[in-house]
Amino acid sequence: MASERSALFIFFGGTGDLAYRKLYPSLFNLYQKGTLREKFAVVGTARDKLTDEKFRERVQKSIGSDSKEAEKFISHFYYEAHDVTDKAHYSVLKERAVELDKKYKLQGNQIFYLSMAPNFFGTVAGYLRSEGLVNDKGFSRLVIEKPFGRDYDSAKALNEALAQSFDEEQIFRIDHYLGKEMIQNIEALRFGNTIIESLWNNRYIDNIQVTLSEKLGVEERASYYDKSGALRDMVQNHIMQIVSLLAMEQPVAFTDSDIRAEKVKALRSLRVYNVAEAATNFVRGQYDAGGKINPYREEDNVPADSNTETFVAGKLMFDNYRWSGTPFYIRTGKVLADKFTRVDVVFKKPLVDIFSFPGSSTSKPLDTNVLTLYIEPKAGFALKINAKNNDQGFQTAPVTMEYFVDPEDSKKTPEPYERLLHDALKGDGTNFSSWQEVSYAWKFVDQIRKVWDLQQPNFPNYTPGSMGPAAADELIERDHRQWVYRLNK
Ligand code: NAD
Repeated sequence: MASERSALFIFFGGTGDLAYRKLYPSLFNLYQKGTLREKFAVVGTARDKLTDEKFRERVQKSIGSDSKEAEKFISHFYYEAHDVTDKAHYSVLKERAVELDKKYKLQGNQIFYLSMAPNFFGTVAGYLRSEGLVNDKGFSRLVIEKPFGRDYDSAKALNEALAQSFDEEQIFRIDHYLGKEMIQNIEALRFGNTIIESLWNNRYIDNIQVTLSEKLGVEERASYYDKSGALRDMVQNHIMQIVSLLAMEQPVAFTDSDIRAEKVKALRSLRVYNVAEAATNFVRGQYDAGGKINPYREEDNVPADSNTETFVAGKLMFDNYRWSGTPFYIRTGKVLADKFTRVDVVFKKPLVDIFSFPGSSTSKPLDTNVLTLYIEPKAGFALKINAKNNDQGFQTAPVTMEYFVDPEDSKKTPEPYERLLHDALKGDGTNFSSWQEVSYAWKFVDQIRKVWDLQQPNFPNYTPGSMGPAAADELIERDHRQWVYRLNK
């Protein structure tokens, strides 16, 4: 059993989709594992008029269990109907908080989880402070969902609003990719293995490729997605976080502040493109019709003339000693060939290939070594190396060494939201985005957006089931390289 933690959770947007699908089931997992036991309470709050009983019924449905244990868990849940813009309601919430703190011996510990539209974040944070919900008795932490702004200026304004009420150490910006097992494994692989970390630089690595491929289209998120696009929705947050973990130096210690400091340092050396560079190093796409899939422009809630990108590929350069000259290629998109996330680390070939015998018709050039980190759906990694082909002559052939997390163990692996809620309870900010990380990521992404907003794209330009537009292949082929994961190899 894990050691028990105490806290009051207040979920703003407590009747929303995210709370229902992810947050309550994750809390239940923490309850079953013993992190939450007696000393916790949950207040759901939203505009809907619900009683505690009705709310508990919803929570029960969301966790999908009516066991004795589930019943006990649910008895810790309460509901307050509340419009977050109404100042008066915060005193009602405060009364509930004080009463529950006493009843469950919560020691003043509070987690305010804002699972609602970001335009409310500043208002809620301000009232939590001004109406006295934030106290000095225990901890008071603010967990917020993405998106954090839609460009650098709006993110900065949001951050300034939050900073009036909460210190940076109290703010936990969710990026659920950081809760994934294999993302956390990047640090273990790199800093726990001399054979990997000693080669982890521009001397031995030719390029690194990060692919976040989605099989589904926009579905019911179309109205949100159309205002965002793949660059804001995936690159600014998830991809930049993955890239900074791959690029960073070894932290002094495995603590949140040391890791963040190194990620920020890496992002500071990311080359922010000028207009011409942004236009050359990034490409965008939007899907057409294919099979049973409608073109993006014909999806519900998408304007027929939408220029929103559903695909992005790009090349990132770090101007520092470790990475100078080694590009990081990234790509992400909707309705692609498959659903997966992976990182391919492509090593340089030996400078001299002594196995390529002059005049021989059978000898083949050496293959490149590739270390692939499989992030999802399966978690693991593979290393492709050259070995002697098992026959009479002397030919080399690539062999692959693989490790995959056992599917049985995978079932026990905590879901990202469970892990992140657990971290928030512990006060561990390692797997959340700091303001500095967010701000550098926006500054980089804004430059690309600026160029794209000035140019009319030639959309639609890729078919469902492909790996994006031809321009994504051209981007990497121009540098005499190829995507490691590609169709029809
Ligand atoms: P949702 O629209 O399903 O829920 C919004 C909630 O906010 C509802 O409970 C609603 O009653 C409440 N609300 C709206 N206006 C209010 C007001 N004025 N006063 C009080 N309550 C009010 O949204 P969601 O999908 O649960 O998303 C919540 C947040 O999580 C958003 O920031 C979203 O971007 C982020 N997010 C969601 C998902 C997901 O899978 N749903 C994934 C990643 C991030």
